[in-house]
Amino acid sequence: MLEIELNGANHPQSRILAQLQERLFTNGPVTIFRWVAQEPWSVEYVSPNVRQWGYEAEDFLSGRINYSQVLHPDDVASIVAEIEAYESARINTYRQDYRIVCANGEVRWVHDYSVVVRNSSGVVTHYEGYVLDITERKQGESALKESEEKFAKAFRCSPDAMTITRLKDGCFIDINKSFLDATGYTQEEVIEQAKFNPWVNPAERAKVYQILQRQGSVNGYEYQFRHKSGTIVVGLFSAEVVIINGEPCVLSVTTDITERKRTELEVLRAAQREKLLGEMAARIRQSLNLQEILETTVKEVRQFLQVNRVYIVQFDRQVQGQIVAESVTDDCSSLLAWKPRNEAHIKEILEYFIIERAYAFGDVTQLELPPEIRQDFLDYQVRSFLAVPIVVGEQIFGHLVANQCNRVRLWEDNEIDFVKKLANQLAIAIQQAQLYQQVQSLNTDLEGLVQKRTEELYHKVQELQELYRIKDVFLHAFSHDLRTPIMGTSLVLNNFLNQDGETLIVSRSILKRLQEGSEKQLNLINALLEAHSSEVSGIVLYCQPLALCEFIQEVIADLEPLANKYKATLINLVNIDFPLVNADVVQLRRVFENLITNAFKYNPPGVTVTVNATSEANRIRCTVADDGIGINLEQQEHLFDLYYRGSQSRASTGIGLGLYLCRQIIKSHGGDIGINSLPGEGTTFWFTLLVA
Ligand code: ATP
Ligand code: MG
Repeated sequence: MLEIELNGANHPQSRILAQLQERLFTNGPVTIFRWVAQEPWSVEYVSPNVRQWGYEAEDFLSGRINYSQVLHPDDVASIVAEIEAYESARINTYRQDYRIVCANGEVRWVHDYSVVVRNSSGVVTHYEGYVLDITERKQGESALKESEEKFAKAFRCSPDAMTITRLKDGCFIDINKSFLDATGYTQEEVIEQAKFNPWVNPAERAKVYQILQRQGSVNGYEYQFRHKSGTIVVGLFSAEVVIINGEPCVLSVTTDITERKRTELEVLRAAQREKLLGEMAARIRQSLNLQEILETTVKEVRQFLQVNRVYIVQFDRQVQGQIVAESVTDDCSSLLAWKPRNEAHIKEILEYFIIERAYAFGDVTQLELPPEIRQDFLDYQVRSFLAVPIVVGEQIFGHLVANQCNRVRLWEDNEIDFVKKLANQLAIAIQQAQLYQQVQSLNTDLEGLVQKRTEELYHKVQELQELYRIKDVFLHAFSHDLRTPIMGTSLVLNNFLNQDGETLIVSRSILKRLQEGSEKQLNLINALLEAHSSEVSGIVLYCQPLALCEFIQEVIADLEPLANKYKATLINLVNIDFPLVNADVVQLRRVFENLITNAFKYNPPGVTVTVNATSEANRIRCTVADDGIGINLEQQEHLFDLYYRGSQSRASTGIGLGLYLCRQIIKSHGGDIGINSLPGEGTTFWFTLLVA
C-alpha cells in the first residue's frame, strides 16, 4: 500500500493521488495502517481519518500508542492466534473482525483486511491493511440473530400447533411439538410428506391456501382436523406468507378450540333447553283444565326426549298408582289400562320405589328387579326408564315417566334435569287447576244460592203485588160497603130534616134500619181492626180442655136462626165421648161460625152443612162440609189470604177476613187448616187441633 513512488508533488499523477487520498481516506470510513511485524507492533503509517476513533495519526506514528493498545482486551488473544495460524499456513492475506476501543472508551467493531509483507528471504517484516468500521452491521446482525433465536424459541415452545409449509404445494417443512401432540403423528410422518393433510376437508385447506396466496395472511379461520386416532379436533388457524430461502412459505398457528367449542355448544344448548322449557311450561300452564294439562305435558315431553312413551301415574292414598295421561308412539303398546296384577305386585312396587325419588334406568335388563316389576317392563317393552316425582305443594301427586322401548338409552344429566324442571312446572299448573276447580265449585254454589234467593225474592214480590192488588180490591169493596149504609142513613136523615117543625116523628122501623146500618158499619170496622191487631201482635189464646160435641152443639144452636134464614140444615156428627181438645173457646167458636156461615152465604139456599171430627194420635181433625157449589182450584189457593173474596161473593158483605183469621187462630193452636173441594161437589174445610 502507498508504496507508490511519487515523482514529485507536482506530477499530475501525484496530484490525483493526493485528491483521492483526501476524498477516500481522510474523510472515508477506511483507515489504513502499516505495522512492523514485531512486538510492540509499532505503526509506520496510519491514515489521518483514524480520528474517527478519537485518535490522531501522530499518536501512533510517534510510538505513543501502538495498535495492540487499541484492540479490545477480550479479542487480543484470538487475533494473535488467528494471525499466527495464517502465518504458519503461509497465507498472506486475511480478514478478521474484532473490536477496538476508541479514545473515549467506546467499543466499535472493525473489519480488518491485512496483507503480509515479507523480505526477499521470506521473513515477515510488515503488515499492511485497512480497517473498516462495521459496528452498525454487527449490531444489525446481532439483532437479527436475536430475533431469529426468539422466533425459534417461540416456534418450539408454543403451546399452539405451529407449522411452516410450502405455499406452492402445502408440504410441511417444519412443525413444532405442539403440532405433533395435537395430531398424534411423528415428525417423519409429516415433514416433506406431500400427501399428509390432516384437515377433515382437504378442499377447504386448498381454499385457505388460495386466500393466503392472494392476501398474504389469514386470521382466525375455524376448521376441523383429524387426530391420528380419528377424533376430530376444532382448530383456529392463523397464517402468514413468509419468504424462507427465497421461497414463499406459510407460517401457521393453530389453537385447539375443541374444548371451548364444546363449552360454547353446551352453553348454547343449555340456553335453548331453558327457552324450550319456558315455552313448554307456558303451553302446559295455558290451561286450567287438569286433564288437558296432563295430556299436553306427556305430549311435550315425548317430543322433547324423542322417546317411545311418556305417561303420568297419579298416586291415590294407597300409592298404588293409576295412569292418568299418556303419549305413546304407534309401535308401542299403551299403558293406560295398566293395573297392579295382585297383592304381591303392589307390595313390590311399594317396596322397590320410593315415591319422593327420581329414577333413571339406562338398561333395565341389567338391573336386579323384583319379578313383577321385571314382568311389567317385559310386557310393555321398556328398555330404559326415567321417572321424576311431581310434587304439588307438600304432596306427591304422582310421577312423570318416560320409557324408551326400541333401544337402550343412557339418560343424560341435562335430560333428567330438564324433566325434573318440567315436572315442577307441571306441579304449578296442577295446583292452579285445582285452585281454579275450587273457585269454580264455590262459584257454582254461590250462583245456585243467588238463583234460589232471587227466585224467593221474585215470589215474595209477586206475593206482595198480589197483596197490593187484593188490598186495592178490598179498599174499593170496603168503601163501597161502607158507602151504601151511610148514604142510606144520610138520605133518611135528609128526608127528616126537610120536614117542617122542630120535632120530628120517626117510625120504629126506620130507626131499626138506621141502627142495623150502623151496626153493620161497626162490624166492618171492628173486623178490620181485629185483623190488623192479630197481624201486629198475634192472637192471645186462653186454652182449656174442651168437649167438642157439646161445644159444637152450642155453636149450632146459636146459628139456628141464620140456618133458618138460608133454609140450611146443620148436622153435628161428633160423638159425645170424643176426646177433649186443647183450645181457646172464644177463638174456636169464631172458626166454626165463619166456616158455617160461609157455607150458608156462598151457596144457594137449602145447603146441608155437616160438622165432624176424627182423632189421629195426639191430634184431632175437624171438618165442616157442605154440599154446595164447590170452589175451583185457583180460588182455593188464595182462600186463606187476607181480604180474599171469591168471585161469586162480590155482592156479599164479607170482606175476605174470615178464612184468614181462621188460619191465624188454628196456627196459634199449633194446628193446620185446609180445604178439599171440587166445583159442583161441595166444599169441605178441615183443621187440626191438639188433644188435651
Ligand atoms: P168475611 O168472612 O170477612 O165476612 P168473606 O166471607 O168473604 O168475608 P172469607 O170467610 O175469608 O171471607 O171467605 C173467603 C171467600 O171464600 C168467600 O168470599 C167465598 O167466596 C169463599 N167461600 C168460603 N166458604 C165457602 C163455601 N163453603 N162455599 C163456597 N165458597 C166459599
Ligand atoms: Mg166469611
